[in-house]
Amino acid sequence: MRKRKKIRLKKQVKLVLCLIVFIILAIVIGKSIYKDHVYKNSYEYKLEVHGYSADEVKLLIKNLSNKKLDELLESEKNDVLISLLKEKYFLKKNLDRYLDYYDKHKQTELSQIIAIVNVYADYETYEHDIDTDINKDELILCNKYYKLSADYEPDDLVQMNSKYYYGDSQSVRQEVYDAFIDMWNAANEEGIYLIVNSSYRTYADQDEVYNSYKDSYGEKEADAVAARAGYSEHQTGLAIDVFSKDNTSRATFKESLAYSWLEANAYKYGFILRYPEGKENITGYGAESWHYRYVGKDVAEYIYENDITFDEYYAYFIEK
Ligand SMILES: [Zn+2]
Repeated sequence: MRKRKKIRLKKQVKLVLCLIVFIILAIVIGKSIYKDHVYKNSYEYKLEVHGYSADEVKLLIKNLSNKKLDELLESEKNDVLISLLKEKYFLKKNLDRYLDYYDKHKQTELSQIIAIVNVYADYETYEHDIDTDINKDELILCNKYYKLSADYEPDDLVQMNSKYYYGDSQSVRQEVYDAFIDMWNAANEEGIYLIVNSSYRTYADQDEVYNSYKDSYGEKEADAVAARAGYSEHQTGLAIDVFSKDNTSRATFKESLAYSWLEANAYKYGFILRYPEGKENITGYGAESWHYRYVGKDVAEYIYENDITFDEYYAYFIEK
């Protein structure tokens, strides 16, 4: 009797154990089937199957909306898009405009497209106005898209000592003046006598400058060499047109020793060459070997070392 009871008990235990094992297995397998189902429906999986590498998939998911990802899955692998996403100064908010610009200018390098779109140069000049943020202090951006109001005037303008300029008297913001004197002294020690011939201009001054060009050469030519009132950096009190005592010619200043010295050293004092050669499509201006802009030492150093314009710097580091 006792023996039979024992056997029955053993059988029951076995049954319960089997049932537990079965339930556990069912849960584990079920979970893995579910996981597999979720994974196969994920963008990670679909994009990888579509030919994108794991790194590319990460980039795409980080920067594209689900709607865009769906569209992407309906067309062939988009290598241009991937290259754009890998560009150093890529901004997510500009993606559609990059692609648009690429469609119309397939020969343009992608880094150029990024720069052009970031600074709004994919719009016509003077047709996409943004009121510039005057609270940015020495980093105020003023160009053919970012404008100043007619009554904007910096509140810390100082008159320059007459030894630093020729022609009409000149003024700049205090911080710019201090930096300029440091730069002037350093250049002077190397036998170079820097001299300013234009600095702060009021809105009315600029209007006069622009209109005199316009009257003589017409609007197109005037726009190539001068800013319209409200769009000139000279109204910020942060820009100077600087030459040397022995060369004040716009035509030949670039060949002077002073120009070479400024090109190599100005950034150490917080100044940048604002309209360099080769960047005309970004800055909107022909090269000006004499126009320097104060942005402070750190920003000037970055711009100098990375060979970008202030417009690009502003778009990527300040505005975004
Ligand atoms: Zn200038």
